[in-house]
Amino acid sequence: MDPGQQLPTTVTLQLPSPLLEVRDDRLDAAGIRLLLKRDDLIHPELPGNKWRKLKHNLAAAAEQGHDTLLTFGGAYSNHIRAAAAAGHHFGFATIGVIRGEEHLPLNPSLAYAVGRGMQLTYLDRSTYRAKHTPAVIDSLRRDWGRFYLLPEGGSNHLAVRGCAELPTEIDETFDVICCAVGTGGTLAGIAAGLGPHQRAIGFSALKGGEFLADEVTRLQTRTYGRCSDNWRIEYGYHGGGYAKTTPQLTEFASDFAERHGLRLDPIYVAKMMFGIFDLAARDNFAPGTRIIAVVTG
Ligand SMILES: *Cc1c(COP(=O)(O)O)cnc(C)c1O
Repeated sequence: MDPGQQLPTTVTLQLPSPLLEVRDDRLDAAGIRLLLKRDDLIHPELPGNKWRKLKHNLAAAAEQGHDTLLTFGGAYSNHIRAAAAAGHHFGFATIGVIRGEEHLPLNPSLAYAVGRGMQLTYLDRSTYRAKHTPAVIDSLRRDWGRFYLLPEGGSNHLAVRGCAELPTEIDETFDVICCAVGTGGTLAGIAAGLGPHQRAIGFSALKGGEFLADEVTRLQTRTYGRCSDNWRIEYGYHGGGYAKTTPQLTEFASDFAERHGLRLDPIYVAKMMFGIFDLAARDNFAPGTRIIAVVTG
């Protein structure tokens, strides 16, 4: 049985998420077919990979008798928002441990999380770096009592299993699947869910994201006992770093919105899409390649 279905809830999720073709003369010129896996449409408050990563964790938390989730993130974290919404919809109290100092008034992301019932607490940056060590977690348990711990970005082995379900929803044949990379959990899962001869390309949204390959390897090994060799990460499309952008990137995104009626999330998805079009223009894909781009949020 699907563990996601054991949770009491009234939310309706659009799953499988829609698959929509993009017709674009630049892709035609390269002989490429591109389909968007619209995970952003799964649920307005639980979009994309955040839902896939939470699903089995929520089931595990319920199974283990937890009524509280605790997780970590930056002040603009999509994961914090999604964890707060999931707590609200699935009946968990939520605690958000935020990097850095409190700034009032709260920014829209944190205000939203509080509106969904999340309690916030803050860790200075050096303690935050040690957030997954027993010392920090024990002290959080002393302050907050018993909780189910979701790591930063929600990326653990249950998140990987949730993301591995994505490719199995796709009934079109394809050769390559692309996603943005923040912590690597989504790429680790998607690559693990592929069939033979299919491969995954991740696009780092972070500058200096070279450590992410080790993260993907670690997450796959932790989940499956081995790492697959069907994926790679592109490091050259971060646009200056996390949550940063360049004039070229914003121009690409506004042109894409005009042509295709879709506003791409600037932090992750626009960078991946720019990367796909750039690789296509550089003949990185053989003519006839069928590509899926995951719109993660
Ligand atoms: C969180 C997020 C990602 C990053 O996913 P990871 O599993 O952390 O690599 C990508 N895209 C969007 C829209 C996100 O919100």
